Amino acid sequence: MPHEPGKVRLVGAGPGAADLLTVRALRAIEDAQALLYDALIADEVIALAPAACLKIQTGKRAGRPSLEQATINRLMLRLARRGLNVVRLKGGDPSIFGRVGEEAAFLHVHGIDTEVVPGVTAASAAAAQFGFPLTHRGEARRLLIATATTKAGALIDAGWAQAADAQTTVALYMGRDRLEAALAQLMAHGRSAATPALAVENAGRREARVLAGTVGDLGEVVTTAGLDGPVVLIVGEVTAQAAAAVAAPPILKAQA
Ligand code: SAH
Repeated sequence: MPHEPGKVRLVGAGPGAADLLTVRALRAIEDAQALLYDALIADEVIALAPAACLKIQTGKRAGRPSLEQATINRLMLRLARRGLNVVRLKGGDPSIFGRVGEEAAFLHVHGIDTEVVPGVTAASAAAAQFGFPLTHRGEARRLLIATATTKAGALIDAGWAQAADAQTTVALYMGRDRLEAALAQLMAHGRSAATPALAVENAGRREARVLAGTVGDLGEVVTTAGLDGPVVLIVGEVTAQAAAAVAAPPILKAQA
């Protein structure tokens, strides 16, 4: 008799530290028979899957190339059709720049049951770790989660005006290598050069680093520092509340 197809869970792994997983995410990982994970997933999270679980890395890591989205889709489908409990593990929250819509739609078309398990997104992890809020009464009434770059790596060329409002906190993802250009766009659209801003590398992890500056000078600080981990840029008055924690010298190790 053919198997009942398995379920695919699209699971947010949070920013890296295993204790920032939700309990639901942890249970899904512990029950996984096949685990497909992105490059940003920390080893301590992958280690929570059973030894017998088939583990497939789908993103660029340690020199290995990343799989095409179509290949990942086909793999999930094939594994689910074998009757396996599949976990597709993504960094942060799968609904934020995690292609969850594309993957869920593909699985749905093929009749596979899916479930999305949310996770702690990078901006939330950064705020918690470095002691500032993302919204603040009278100061930051909006949070704009945006990406700086297109699929091909070019700087996004539209939509910056929304980020110029002084009461908007901007969390910019996928912008590490284009930070100076992104900040220049913000200024060109009227965001004050004096607005405090932070670049947080490896947010939520023990090795997190934060670089503090302003919209006017943070780009150069980041370029000089040569960050190579994932970086989320947070722009807005709220980031000044982190100032005490990130006073000079500008690069401080996070408290574990
Ligand atoms: N779904 C993820 C985002 C995936 S896009 C989330 O919700 O966090 C990948 C981008 O996310 C990176 O380029 C970086 O900008 C950001 N990012 C992911 N993890 C991060 C971390 N631990 N610290 C800082 N930025 C991170």
